[in-house]
Amino acid sequence: MATTSVTRRRFISNLSALSALAMTPQLGHALDRPASGRKLGVALVGLGNYSRGQLGPALKETQYCRLAGVVTGDPAKGAKWAREYGFPATSVYGYDTMARLADNPAIDIVYVVTPNGLHAEHCVAAAKAGKHVICEKPMANTVAECDAIIAACRTAGVQLSIGYRLFFDPYHRELMRLAREQDFGPLRKMSGDFGFVMNGRQWRAEKKLSGGGPLMDLGVYLIQGGCMAAGGVAPLAVTARYEPKKRPEFFVEVEERIAWTMEFPGGVTCQAVTSYNHHRNQFRAEGAKGWIEFSQNAFMYHGLEVETSRGVLHYPKINQQAGQMDGFAQCLLTGQPTPVPGEMGRRDLTVIEAIYASAEAGGQRVAVMG
Ligand code: NAD
Repeated sequence: MATTSVTRRRFISNLSALSALAMTPQLGHALDRPASGRKLGVALVGLGNYSRGQLGPALKETQYCRLAGVVTGDPAKGAKWAREYGFPATSVYGYDTMARLADNPAIDIVYVVTPNGLHAEHCVAAAKAGKHVICEKPMANTVAECDAIIAACRTAGVQLSIGYRLFFDPYHRELMRLAREQDFGPLRKMSGDFGFVMNGRQWRAEKKLSGGGPLMDLGVYLIQGGCMAAGGVAPLAVTARYEPKKRPEFFVEVEERIAWTMEFPGGVTCQAVTSYNHHRNQFRAEGAKGWIEFSQNAFMYHGLEVETSRGVLHYPKINQQAGQMDGFAQCLLTGQPTPVPGEMGRRDLTVIEAIYASAEAGGQRVAVMG
């Protein structure tokens, strides 16, 4: 089987080119270039699994930013993070004292990593404090909340980015390149499946905090994959159906499994399924002259297994989260727009709302309102 590999240098130069991919006219204010050695300060809001397991460790690898503060409901936990990451105890905030971030010049970026239903409240608070904002996926529970976040960032003149780490992953960047250059000819069809078995009580099963079930949490990656493969455009319409619950007592407020079809321009379709009751992590896109298949760990932090009709792909291992945060810091330092702006997060929420509307209407075709 043929093998395609890319050198680290070429990949890094591709990453730098990424910041030139302007996708929004909103620039936000460019920061002064930091005095030599100073990295941009990031404050993480919410010290749960993703912050502890991925973002904190990634901030030890970043070149252009560093952890400079936290927002948490647990001051003792915050103090522990301050000791580990070497920032002052005065840079530990509570959710109710986020306004005081405005007085802390060491913090440039606020990264919101709380449950989905709290993103809007925390992003708006960060923008009001005059800080640039990264908001985790999905951007919020509703399009209306996305609008509120975008408006708050515009008013404050700060940049807003979504935690779409896969934009900085080499395999997904190759998917985008194939689409951009139509290397495999016009896109024909796509399919994807992303699920895991969720155990233990948590906010992901509570509608107010999650906005919905696996569609919000995992399905958003399939929507992203579809839009990437389609060259950055959103689907025109969707049809969707809820599938039977195996544990209805556990998934009382949200769906356990949902399947849907996205219709993209040119008659291209993407068949997708996501659930909290099966393990799968795949995506495939077929063009007229070739295909790309993410057969294992398609949307994971590492361990992606990807093959095209030309052979297996091998890229150097990277830290997606470090690349994502450094990418945003570079945009701020150079006054460039982020390639993953709030508008993209909002677009994906318009698709999610259409999918739920279709499933609620028994599978009727629903147009995606951009
Ligand atoms: P988590 O439950 O592990 O952490 C959530 C944090 O929010 C905790 O520190 C919790 O104390 C805090 N919190 C504040 N108010 C809360 C409230 N009212 N109820 C519950 N928790 C509250 O969740 P997580 O897995 O870290 O996910 C956080 C966000 O990050 C979600 O939006 C999720 O979609 C996103 N995420 C993204 C990725 C990615 O790969 N980009 C991966 C995991 C999670």
